[in-house]
Amino acid sequence: MTGSSPAIIAVALDAPLRRLFDYCVPADWAAQVQPGLRVWVPFGRRRIVGVVMEIRRHSDVPTAKLRYAQSLIDAEPALDAGLLDLLRWAADYYRHPLGEVIAAALPGPLRQGAPLDVVETCWRLTPMGRSQALTELPTRAKRMRAAIEALLDGADHMDEALLAAGITRESLRKLRERGYVEDVTRTQLAAASTAGEVHGGPSLNDAQATAVERIRGSLGTFATWLLHGVTGSGKTEVYLHAIASVLERGEQALVLVPEIGLTPQLIARFRERFDAPIVILHSGLSDGERATAWREARSGAARIVIGTRSAIFAPLARPGLIVVDEEHDSSLKQQDGFRYSARDLAIVRAQRAQIPVILGSATPSLESLNRAHHQTGSLLALPHRAADAKPPRLALIDLRAHAAAQGIATPTLMAMQRHLDAGRQVLLFLNRRGYAPVLFCPQCGWSAHCKRCDANLTVHRNSIALLCHHCGVQQTVATACPTCAAEVKPVGQGTERIEETVGRIFPNSPLARIDRDSMRRKGELEATLAQVDRNEIRILVGTQMLTKGHHFPNVTLVVVLNADQGLFSTDFRASERLAQTIVQVAGRAGRAEQPGEVLIQTEYPEHPLLTLLLRGGYEAFAEGALKEREKAGWPPFSRIALLRAEATQAAEPLQFLRAASAVAREHAVRGVSLWGPAPAPMERRAGRHRAQLLLQAATHGPLQRLLSRWIPLLETLPEARKVRWSIDVDPSEMF
Ligand code: ADP
Ligand code: ZN
Ligand code: ZN
Repeated sequence: MTGSSPAIIAVALDAPLRRLFDYCVPADWAAQVQPGLRVWVPFGRRRIVGVVMEIRRHSDVPTAKLRYAQSLIDAEPALDAGLLDLLRWAADYYRHPLGEVIAAALPGPLRQGAPLDVVETCWRLTPMGRSQALTELPTRAKRMRAAIEALLDGADHMDEALLAAGITRESLRKLRERGYVEDVTRTQLAAASTAGEVHGGPSLNDAQATAVERIRGSLGTFATWLLHGVTGSGKTEVYLHAIASVLERGEQALVLVPEIGLTPQLIARFRERFDAPIVILHSGLSDGERATAWREARSGAARIVIGTRSAIFAPLARPGLIVVDEEHDSSLKQQDGFRYSARDLAIVRAQRAQIPVILGSATPSLESLNRAHHQTGSLLALPHRAADAKPPRLALIDLRAHAAAQGIATPTLMAMQRHLDAGRQVLLFLNRRGYAPVLFCPQCGWSAHCKRCDANLTVHRNSIALLCHHCGVQQTVATACPTCAAEVKPVGQGTERIEETVGRIFPNSPLARIDRDSMRRKGELEATLAQVDRNEIRILVGTQMLTKGHHFPNVTLVVVLNADQGLFSTDFRASERLAQTIVQVAGRAGRAEQPGEVLIQTEYPEHPLLTLLLRGGYEAFAEGALKEREKAGWPPFSRIALLRAEATQAAEPLQFLRAASAVAREHAVRGVSLWGPAPAPMERRAGRHRAQLLLQAATHGPLQRLLSRWIPLLETLPEARKVRWSIDVDPSEMF
């Protein structure tokens, strides 16, 4: 044929290459092709799934060398224009290969070519079935009766759930013949649900009502709301009511929560309050479950999508609102591979979709607070606890003035006794699992070190082992020093040791330890929390796991055993994280009518951060911290990116980064400064040496201009072949 050249498609493939791949389209389906469709394409000797990104007239590849795409998988785009646009933006901004970004947005089965739509049948009672089936069916029709009972039990039953419960397809079909049940698709079921209503719940107080009203007024337009409410102030109630309005409009709501926040309690609360179909997206799902949830979000059958950070890429037929709960939480940032911030992408997605986004937190990130200062009227404050609960009283315990027996100072012990005597519960927070952080020889000064990391090994009593918390290496505990044979001693406190000490001092108060080691088995955390609820546990010892999401109404004393870990760090975000942790853990106390007491043990009671926090709460701290950031030129008053490199040979990361730095200087962009390269604060980890180069600019424009030129050049550096390197745009951790 002459004249009309074949259509060419640029396809994203799941490969770590920063480019698209061109293919010719066979004439018989050229007319149907459009961006977002999945296609089968040849790749080397294999056949793989690609996603069409662009339709082109010309390719830089000579036509003779272009291969033909094999077939279309989808009749309509798997990823709609809005989502494609977001993914493209994210790949560009975070400088990650587009093919991998696209792959991250597709559940496994769809990446392997599974069909886009699977019509799922649900069974529902007809009015006749609801009122008459059980009276009319003979008693011996056991199976049919069981099916009816199961359907009467729940509002919305999926085929699979019923079958899993032992109901057979056969009995459902028989019931359909008799007119007792009918089958409908998920989508029909969703459309029929009386969605726009929140059931039950307290009536909103003034601050909540104002917040809901303002969010409602912004539906259908882009707005970023910062919902800043102390723990227990009723933020979740605000989300629920805002979501009700979204459902009323026939739209969907996307709710992002931190990993640890996606608890059965939260899900149960949503299910209880809405009739609307809800799907959950998180990393613990099987491929099949994820694909089902993804399909329902995409078709619109799911009206509420709740998920952890990767749910920001969930397809939505009719997006109406995005909620980011605990927006300060570090798990919203992906720390490896495709490094992105789900919170920041939520704002980008909302803007593109012209819908509002709510960022909720008791301890907002300094970024979000700064943004709210600049966008007048975007701050929604819930200054008081709902249900008239009193805020907790904070006090410092000076560890220099009070001898601490095994990590707990005398005034702390006295306070514990007081609260226990009053029939209350006590929570001890320590951000360090294990028995002791150091195994030390008092004779010669030897301590147990990890061979593969620049770190001490942690003593774990329960597993009778020394464990490296950075690389996972395990060693048996020596009782004698390997250099002088003297007896070695565990030094310092971990949660296991606190558990032991407290158990000895308060033998009659049942105690539970909550950390990653003690809560390994599925369901264990829920079971322990239920015991706490029933007041069977009186003392809780735990890590970070305790600081989020859970309600402990009968806990009236919270002790932060060691605040000093975050006070002196090379990471400019460490103090922000410390303040957030203290305020979050303090928020667990006295949620009901009992006012709480919070004791913070420290050797630096005059530290300005602690003083600010104590006198003026998180707001005062944040104001002070923002001033410091501005003076030092750190984010949010600048933009940064971190180029990291690691290798088994000590010199190689620095050599690569020096070469990278030279290239950056050659292609200098005005306004971008380079700092380093320098070894990472923990130089060696898991046997690999690590170093980093920091890029900084006042705004992200120049930084992005430099990155776009620089990254492709890095791939061609000979030094790059000897290291593993990665770029982290807006890093949340500085190592
Ligand atoms: P947050 O999400 O800010 O931690 P929640 O929405 O979970 O707060 O509310 C904390 C507790 O207070 C819950 O038990 C909730 O039912 C209750 N609550 C919320 N709003 C009100 C209100 N207006 N009146 C009474 N109780 C409320
Ligand atoms: Zn020794
Ligand atoms: Zn190690």
